[in-house]
Amino acid sequence: MTGDCNEKNRGCDLLVVSPHRDDAAFSVGLTIRRWLACGWPVKIINCYTISEYAPHRSELNRAAVSDLRRAEDLAFAQHLGDGIEFVDLNLLDAPLRLCCPVDEVCNRALAPDRVRVEIELLGDHLRRIVNRGVLLIPLSVGNHVDHIIARQTCIRLADLCSLAFYEDLPYSALAGPEGVAEARLATETLLGRSLQSIVIASGDASVKKMEVVKLYPSQVTESEVEQIKGYTAYTGGERIWLDETSSHSFQTALGSRAGNDADKRIGN
Ligand SMILES: [Zn+2]
Repeated sequence: MTGDCNEKNRGCDLLVVSPHRDDAAFSVGLTIRRWLACGWPVKIINCYTISEYAPHRSELNRAAVSDLRRAEDLAFAQHLGDGIEFVDLNLLDAPLRLCCPVDEVCNRALAPDRVRVEIELLGDHLRRIVNRGVLLIPLSVGNHVDHIIARQTCIRLADLCSLAFYEDLPYSALAGPEGVAEARLATETLLGRSLQSIVIASGDASVKKMEVVKLYPSQVTESEVEQIKGYTAYTGGERIWLDETSSHSFQTALGSRAGNDADKRIGN
């Protein structure tokens, strides 16, 4: 292992908060690959893992869907060489927890009291796991309620770790630059700090991304696969939003000191 970015309990461990099982792979599969290649540990915290959502396997019940989605995650870990540790929180996903139709999860406004309960529940779990490193969490593009709750909960953990934000896929492909900018501004307001972006770039980013996305056939249609591919080609990789502290940890971990200017690229 090379490099050392330990300071004030902020090591180079990467912890990815994945509201659902596919979010880490779809949104930051290439970043995880890069982190592992640099010799640092990666832990994926899957939050709302109990689910009936498998639009392309509608004949399956809840237990079978949850098992199938776990198997897809394990295939992803194997694809990257088995260096990933998963922690599954076994919480109900939004349609089950909030008793709402799947097509309402991206415009589901919760009462403030309910938001507090949701944040406390997820925060209790995360505080048992997170105590150092970089916590890579959703920017919440697309406003899926589970992603919003995850972001708000994780921002409260800023005293324990460095925070970095990923662009949720396929939502970012659907929302476009305006939707991404809206989510970034909302995140900066919650955080009280401005964010700069870097791109984890690769010449064959779209190809590598397709290899990962296709490991989750219960979750995506061919058109969604194409949307993710198009968005990856547009960014040239995966765009991550960082503040000053997380920018230092991130770039030190990846062996690059590109600075804090907007949209710096870290390539192969
Ligand atoms: Zn999700």
